[in-house]
Amino acid sequence: MSELTRLSISEAACHLESKNISSEELTIAHIEEMERCRDLNAFITETPELALQRAKKSDARRSKGENVGAMDGIPIAIKDLFCTDGVLTTAGSHILDGFKPNYESTISQNLRDAGAVMLGKTNLDEFAMGSANVTSYYGPVKNPWVVNDLKDRVPGGSSGGSAVSVAARLSLGAVGTDTGGSIRQPASFCGIVGLKPTYGRCSRWGTVAFASSLDQAGPMTRSVEDAAIMLQAMAGYDPKDSTSARVETPKFNAELVSGVKGMMIGIPEEYTLDSTSEEIRKLWEQGCQWLESAGASCKRVSLPHTEFALPCYYIIAPAEASSNLARYDGVRYGLRVDGDSLDEMYENTRGEGFGAEVRRRIMIGTYVLSAGYYDAYYVKAQKVRALIAKDFEAAFADVDVILTPTAPTAAFPIGDRMGDPITMYLNDVFTVPASVAGLPAISIPAGLDSLGLPLGLHLIGRAFDEVTLLRTAKALENLADFNASPSKVDS
Ligand code: GLN
Repeated sequence: MSELTRLSISEAACHLESKNISSEELTIAHIEEMERCRDLNAFITETPELALQRAKKSDARRSKGENVGAMDGIPIAIKDLFCTDGVLTTAGSHILDGFKPNYESTISQNLRDAGAVMLGKTNLDEFAMGSANVTSYYGPVKNPWVVNDLKDRVPGGSSGGSAVSVAARLSLGAVGTDTGGSIRQPASFCGIVGLKPTYGRCSRWGTVAFASSLDQAGPMTRSVEDAAIMLQAMAGYDPKDSTSARVETPKFNAELVSGVKGMMIGIPEEYTLDSTSEEIRKLWEQGCQWLESAGASCKRVSLPHTEFALPCYYIIAPAEASSNLARYDGVRYGLRVDGDSLDEMYENTRGEGFGAEVRRRIMIGTYVLSAGYYDAYYVKAQKVRALIAKDFEAAFADVDVILTPTAPTAAFPIGDRMGDPITMYLNDVFTVPASVAGLPAISIPAGLDSLGLPLGLHLIGRAFDEVTLLRTAKALENLADFNASPSKVDS
């Protein structure tokens, strides 16, 4: 592995700035790694020619002395849920076979405008539905953390390919999306940082929709500072997305090194679950102690409706998904499987084009939206959602940030938890409440379990207060001093 792939975004930006290295060199080093580690299955589409073209353009901008930003010339990976102009966009689904959009999503465009170099499109659970990256039509992604029993572990999902590309040093950063935990849980499983911004901070325009009231793009990186740098390039009001927030974009790294002295950290009582491993509970306590040792105070808070967050999510998300996915009818996009009538063509296309998990969600979603059940399920779930948001509001009257584990377990072997969808859904028990409430949250790698697998700690912030969230995350990162790397990378 080249030294260039060990850099952080901020370090690489310094080297580029001082012309120690070129973006072309940096990009070539990452393309080589991407090709060497194809067995991880992190990418659905590699775009090396495009990357080299953009890298050369970035170098030309620098040599002309143009005023470039911190992302200029930085090789990154993009989750294959973002539409990219002229580049295959699959959402991990058979139904989007051959779909090459003729437009660019706002997020990938923003990063392009900032000079970032796209290496390719990363693998994901089909339509971002999953927690293990095992529902992709393009096959499972392997976690680069390999332990003694040699079973391949899942990278988490649905942004598993993005997480692996960062953890295995195939890219300096990656874009993921998080509907119920899909940035934070894979970040935890792969030992990297994953940030879900406040709902509305990053535009959803041109992102394949899963559950529109929850979907949010965010950065996946190897440091908190890098997350702030990447988010800076991604965020901002977008008139093309009606749910994009008309708020000012702050300097996300404004308080990064201010520490946590005097801050109040909330520890929610309801997040203590029987299913959480002892090691994770200990790490959570350790997280509290770390922050206290740096001058913060920890305080118990109550979020009484926590237990309803997951059921509420699994009504709202499938409801929105069933509606969003109605557009895949064999007429406008991708796959078409012919039939004797128009209806039969729809049925054949959707039957063959969607995998089992997506079909399950469409059926749940259609059911909870159907006449007669709409009030009992969908409307009730929306009411519960409001109560969950109120719980957070009340807690944030007393605390600045909330600390929890990211996931109840470390990465599990590929193939586990496939029999019962509910066990799979429980992966997101700690991440879903913040999603339902639209709040920003981040996972920081904080330790290893007894097998040597990474574990994350999770911080939840006030709406649109990513600055405080990142500041706390940076302090926690320093205190945890996590510097292990996956065996795949050491080899
Ligand atoms: N695992 C959750 C689900 O399957 C969350 C997915 C996501 O955040 N995209 O719905």
